[in-house]
Amino acid sequence: MAAKTTYVKPYSKPGRVSLRINEIDMLLDNQGTNVRITPSILCPNRSGDQNEDASVNHPLDCSICDGNQLVDVTSLAFNTWAFVAGVKLETQIDQARFDVKDAMMTTQTDVKVHYWYKVEMVDHTAQFNQLIKRTTAADDTLRYIPIDVSDGGVFCLIDSEGNSYVRDTDYSIANNKRITWLTANKPEVETIYSFLYPVLPTFRIIDLIHENRYYYNSDKLPRKEPVNLPQQAHLRWDYMAKNVEIT
Ligand SMILES: [Zn+2]
Repeated sequence: MAAKTTYVKPYSKPGRVSLRINEIDMLLDNQGTNVRITPSILCPNRSGDQNEDASVNHPLDCSICDGNQLVDVTSLAFNTWAFVAGVKLETQIDQARFDVKDAMMTTQTDVKVHYWYKVEMVDHTAQFNQLIKRTTAADDTLRYIPIDVSDGGVFCLIDSEGNSYVRDTDYSIANNKRITWLTANKPEVETIYSFLYPVLPTFRIIDLIHENRYYYNSDKLPRKEPVNLPQQAHLRWDYMAKNVEIT
């Protein structure tokens, strides 16, 4: 008969955690928020030699990433349920790293996320302000896809002369990142116009609080089995996340 293995505390009862992952996963299924997660990679459109700070050598009007400095791999996007909670500065003042546009996200145990992934809250809306330069083309490129919202999203567009333009009369949108001008009544070429439009709340993962978090379950098993625990990620609004050092 083999000698009984003994463990010193706190390893004597491995697997004793206060988190029941089956219940967390079920709770997320029932009460989590519908999020769309899109893996992203750094935009390779850089200039200058490698000794320079690469982040300053990225063109703002980059045609590969629309100036995001990240390329979203939409073919790998997936929907899942997650807890997303806003983080207020006053509750984290001692850490001095959160602001009101930050949030924490907890995912189910089978979901793996990584830095810079895009997180969109599918059932919610936000308003985005964008300054756009009028091109010579029939349409201009937007940063986000304008969405139709039943509960009163606002479309507002004025040019540098103060003229207002009306959706579906002067311009149209079509579930993509384009705004299409319909008539001759449009902002002057090369001038800036201002566009307020509804978008999905869109975040970037800027930190992984718990990455590859697991415990070992060895109770009555011939060998210890790692058990994954839910990941937690620190999110920041997409348009505010760009000045964070890319690692
Ligand atoms: Zn780019």
